[in-house]
Amino acid sequence: MTGLLVGVCAVAGLLIGSFLNVVVWRVPRGESVVHPPSACPRCGASIQPRDNVPVVSWVLLRGRCRACAAPISVRYPLVEAVTALLFAATAAVVGPSWLLPVALYVVAVAVALALIDIDVHRLPDAIVLPSYPVVLVLLALASLDPGGTSDWHALGRSVLGGLAMLAVYLVLVLVHPAGMGLGDLKLSGVLGMFLGWFGWGVWAVGLFLPFLLGAVFGLVLMAARRAGRKTGIPFGPWMLLGALAAPLVAGPALDWYWDTVLQL
Ligand SMILES: [Zn+2]
Repeated sequence: MTGLLVGVCAVAGLLIGSFLNVVVWRVPRGESVVHPPSACPRCGASIQPRDNVPVVSWVLLRGRCRACAAPISVRYPLVEAVTALLFAATAAVVGPSWLLPVALYVVAVAVALALIDIDVHRLPDAIVLPSYPVVLVLLALASLDPGGTSDWHALGRSVLGGLAMLAVYLVLVLVHPAGMGLGDLKLSGVLGMFLGWFGWGVWAVGLFLPFLLGAVFGLVLMAARRAGRKTGIPFGPWMLLGALAAPLVAGPALDWYWDTVLQL
């Protein structure tokens, strides 16, 4: 059962990854993601369905436009492959459960927002704001767990987790406006809802992990490239990575914290 689910989610990940490439290019430019259909940016030839198969078409075309041979960035098949891998891994970890839809949604949004934030240092409202109702409804579905035991406490915790995360980021933005953007603030509530569903331990790890990851990455970058302290590394990707990793690492991380740091 789980094997089939992983396979289906991998294929879905390829197709969603292909769509995310369109989202990452068009949403920051204020363009529609459904119209017009994809075309070569150099010669304007529309992309035929046979040339729009995720990963496969890029390999068969050897990374070039069929009409004018303009190079097509390797990033497109990479995003498709990485999304497929993340979807498959999510299905393998979560298994056949009503938690899977919200987990896959957060993965897809994370891929799109991380790339846009790295590209243009923005987290577009067009993606972040609709995610509030979508994530809440999908978390309600996970809490309802048709055929299982409903856990409405988890949904209540999600709402509180979202509000609490917004409050923490609001303080951070007010205290240090240069280090944190309004985009980060708006995203924090979505991730707080997702993290809160799992419990307050996961929520807390999801709050601290982005700062830890960002700090470690910043130190590595400074050591390797002597990047200045002002090098603009967006924070959004760390928030998204932290939110996805926290449910997986929170158990061991909190155990280590209690045992080693607090010696309890
Ligand atoms: Zn072309």
